[in-house]
Amino acid sequence: MNDAHLREIVILGGGAAGWMAAALLAKKIDTNLTRITLVESAEIGAIGVGEATIPVLRNYNNLLGIDEFDFVRRTQGTFKLGIEFCDWGVPDNRHFHAFSDYGHAIEGVAAHHYWLKLRAAGEPHPIDDYSFPYWMARSGNFSPSDPNNLRYLHAFHFDATLYARYLRDVAQSLGVVRIEGRLIDVERDGESGHIRTIRLADGREVAGDFFIDCTGFASELLGKALQTPYVNWSHWLLCDRAIALPSTRTVTPNPFTRSTAHEGGWSWNIPLQHRSGNGIVYCSEYWKDEAALETLERALEGTPLAEPRTFRFTSGHRKLFWNHNCVGIGFASGFLEPLESTGIQLIVLAIVRLLELFPDRHFDPVLRNEYNRIATTEMERVRDFIIAHYSLSRRPEPLWAACRNMAIPDSLRHKLEVWRSSGRVPLGEAESYKEPSWVAILLGNGVIPSRYDVQADVLPLEAVSAGMERRRTSMRQAAQALPPHQAFIDRHCKAPVSDLSRPIPSALAG
Ligand SMILES: Cc1cc2nc3c(=O)[nH]c(=O)nc-3n(C[C@H](O)[C@H](O)[C@H](O)COP(=O)(O)OP(=O)(O)OC[C@H]3O[C@@H](n4cnc5c(N)ncnc54)[C@H](O)[C@@H]3O)c2cc1C
Repeated sequence: MNDAHLREIVILGGGAAGWMAAALLAKKIDTNLTRITLVESAEIGAIGVGEATIPVLRNYNNLLGIDEFDFVRRTQGTFKLGIEFCDWGVPDNRHFHAFSDYGHAIEGVAAHHYWLKLRAAGEPHPIDDYSFPYWMARSGNFSPSDPNNLRYLHAFHFDATLYARYLRDVAQSLGVVRIEGRLIDVERDGESGHIRTIRLADGREVAGDFFIDCTGFASELLGKALQTPYVNWSHWLLCDRAIALPSTRTVTPNPFTRSTAHEGGWSWNIPLQHRSGNGIVYCSEYWKDEAALETLERALEGTPLAEPRTFRFTSGHRKLFWNHNCVGIGFASGFLEPLESTGIQLIVLAIVRLLELFPDRHFDPVLRNEYNRIATTEMERVRDFIIAHYSLSRRPEPLWAACRNMAIPDSLRHKLEVWRSSGRVPLGEAESYKEPSWVAILLGNGVIPSRYDVQADVLPLEAVSAGMERRRTSMRQAAQALPPHQAFIDRHCKAPVSDLSRPIPSALAG
């Protein structure tokens, strides 16, 4: 046994980040040796948004041993195969970013190169036609696996408030101690600068040797107490506000998230079992709050279930994700707009990385530096992916023109240059989005490379054409034979009827 092991971990904040960290740490470390305490304030509340996920959440659930159907049932969840982008690029454009590739590689060459070859020869089926999840989404069907062995992944939509509650139950059952209280002060060690104790409004003190800041935008420990500077990316990601507005559901739930571009931003629609999650993200420099709200209300499915809630944010991150004896997770460490549902993904990656580089009371700086290096790279890669959605757009309005004309990060420029010249996407370390995701966004926005992989010419055009047509037809037929998404939910994970009029708790509403 290591004598220097941590004795007291204190997690401050009980939103998604706090409870996700608490549950997985309690599962993976010996809570007889290291006590885990989570402090949260009902008075402040959690943000209560963040309802669409990507497949990495399944890895997190698996690590916890969570039963997928029980999880979906208890969070009023539905299944997600990807994101449908409407009016991005140009008005009336539609493309689908699925959690899959475009079918198996042929002779070691990715399928999109054969699509480019067909396109050059004037055979213009959209690239989405070679995506099995796209056909499922289009048919409104869902299955977690395909009998024909086509590879794809799925994720979930869920009620964020129910999700935090679900994880709280899991974490407490694993031994996490919950304290209700509001932080008002922090005591630091005079010599090391480490956080020693946090003081709560009722006078209680909670001591720890390691702190995890999950206080959301407040960033009470990492930002305020440790004064970790913020790296501001708002010159690249111009949107700085969002409005969320849940509504009744009037149609069967789609097995995908929908993102629709508008004059000054974009709106989301997330189908849950008991309601729809809706919202709009926009840039206050180009769009007034009233115009954004009006656009959101006009597109709303069903009737509103709560007052609209406005959020203000600045894209970017704390210069150090881990500073002294404190790691920030979730909004406390940074913010990227939810265009690709990356908030919860970044939380999962942060917790797993923390477990991999877990400190003892010596706090070897090598671990901290490595954690910060990977976290920064990971965040920059996701940032680039999101910027690409904006900078590739050919929409005419001022926001989109500004995005098109701005200087993009060198790392993104490099990716786009290589793509334009070769039809390949160069990937580095800590890339959350692999080549098929980039292909979906690049081709979806009409960015056609000047050539395709030369190896695709080994097969004659007729053979490629016939093979791709077979692939397209079999994908469509296989997808159409699957059960409707709603029927799949009803059969495996139907949630109890909920009080649809229950208002969403207001928290950090601006
Ligand atoms: C509009 C919008 C839409 C989003 N959509 C998605 C999405 O579709 N998919 C996705 O993956 N992510 C999404 N996100 C991101 C996602 O919501 C967050 O990643 C997630 O909710 C994590 O939040 P958090 O736990 O960091 O912060 P919060 O939920 O804000 O939790 C902060 C916690 O800290 C506590 N706290 C704060 N100050 C104190 C104090 N002084 N004392 C004690 N406790 C304190 C609060 O009480 C609360 O418990 C979205 C974000 C926004 C803004």
